[in-house]
Amino acid sequence: MRRAIVVGSGAGGATAAKELQGKFEVTVLEAGKEFRPLSLSLPTMERLKRIGLLFDEREIQLIFPAMQIRKTEDMILVNGIGLGGTTTLCTGNAVRMDQDLRASGINLDAEFEEIYQEIPITTEHQKRWHKHTRRLFEICQEMGLNPRPTPKMGNYDRCISCGRCVFGCPQGAKWDSRRFLEMAQQKGAQVITGCKVERVVIEDGRATGVWAKEGWARRFYPADLVILAAGGLATPVILQNSGIPCEPRLFVDPVLCVATEWSNALQCKEIEMPFIVRQKHFILSPYFDYLSFFFNKAWKYPARDKLGIMIKLADSNVGSISKRELTKTLTGEDKQRLSEGVEICTEMLLRFGAERDSIFLGTINAGHPGGMLPLTEQEAGSFHHIWLPANLYVADATPLPRSLGNPPILTIIAMAKRVSKLCI
Ligand SMILES: Cc1cc2nc3c(=O)[nH]c(=O)nc-3n(C[C@H](O)[C@H](O)[C@H](O)COP(=O)(O)OP(=O)(O)OC[C@H]3O[C@@H](n4cnc5c(N)ncnc54)[C@H](O)[C@@H]3O)c2cc1C
Ligand code: SF4
Repeated sequence: MRRAIVVGSGAGGATAAKELQGKFEVTVLEAGKEFRPLSLSLPTMERLKRIGLLFDEREIQLIFPAMQIRKTEDMILVNGIGLGGTTTLCTGNAVRMDQDLRASGINLDAEFEEIYQEIPITTEHQKRWHKHTRRLFEICQEMGLNPRPTPKMGNYDRCISCGRCVFGCPQGAKWDSRRFLEMAQQKGAQVITGCKVERVVIEDGRATGVWAKEGWARRFYPADLVILAAGGLATPVILQNSGIPCEPRLFVDPVLCVATEWSNALQCKEIEMPFIVRQKHFILSPYFDYLSFFFNKAWKYPARDKLGIMIKLADSNVGSISKRELTKTLTGEDKQRLSEGVEICTEMLLRFGAERDSIFLGTINAGHPGGMLPLTEQEAGSFHHIWLPANLYVADATPLPRSLGNPPILTIIAMAKRVSKLCI
């Protein structure tokens, strides 16, 4: 049987592995290890903050290896490393965001139909919302912002509203891509962890396999088909290492939280992003921002007294990553749009009862990277960039022409399904 190498086990990689196994002998190469949720409790993390041991976001990797942090001048970038990729850190939001793809002639209706059969999606969590979340929802209604409960992936009967979604769900309530990976393995796919792919070998216009680093050793994995799904920050590096240039069009969907002190707000014990307000260039959603709470000095102890709203911006696609350099700054337009978001969130918190001088901002963080090898309209049907050899495909957010400004997992899964169909 033909051999396929899938690089990465997140949303795109796990989907491709599940779809391709059987038609190909699939081997998934994953840089990280088995995923483990953060084991430290919030009171322990609060103690570390109080004694001044938490001062740089990159420290999180020491206690929670599945979360990788990179820093730029303007923001921190967050992604998952390990089985399940960034889906293990996600807050479960399941939104279909293929409007731009549809406008460029890509119809993913069939793939979304399949997704809705395969992944349970629900707004059932609404019945467990805390009173402050309900009040924020009403305020958004009063402001004419048309808030909508967020559809979530998983079985939320099991959710205990512990608020730890971004550190891995201890209840197994939240869906993540390890479910697809297990399905691929049951059909015979091999999964190799601790295996960091460095480059694709291309000979006579065809990909013949990949070189990967395993500990100190390097190993060549031969392949008839290579699918890159290492995420929007790692796939461009692998492509460039393989002699395929990328474009400096990196988007990341920066998140800025506007928060207030509020006695016993207990947002840290609430499901993250329970509802969403859509605006033209950003979405708003209640969110306890752990990274800001742990590492930003403006965020004081204790966690239970914080109430925040996130602005998630569809940023300009300006930025790049290579083996040596990461450049991602906010453009003037991005900053202007974020300030519009801050104004709306401030108004929401004032209506909630907050004092203006008790309102403060979080650290900008971003976790939806993509865009560095965007598909053109001519490539819409083939899902295959002309710079790639015929048997090399990308199945993550790297081919997206612009930021979705919204949770991308379902759209990445749909794209990975389409790529898989095209490869069979
Ligand atoms: C805190 C947080 C919350 C989020 N919440 C949501 C949400 O609720 N809903 C939503 O839709 N989106 C959410 N996202 C975004 C979403 O998780 C990602 O966009 C999505 O998982 C990307 O899928 P992917 O397959 O492209 O990459 P990833 O899921 O990041 O998977 C890439 C995989 O490749 C591996 N890898 C990297 N480099 C290599 C290499 N060189 N060799 C081998 N393997 C490699 C990584 O370890 C990783 O496992 C969130 C993101 C963050 C950071
Ligand atoms: S809030 Fe619910 S979904 Fe999130 S981690 Fe806790 S139990 Fe899981």
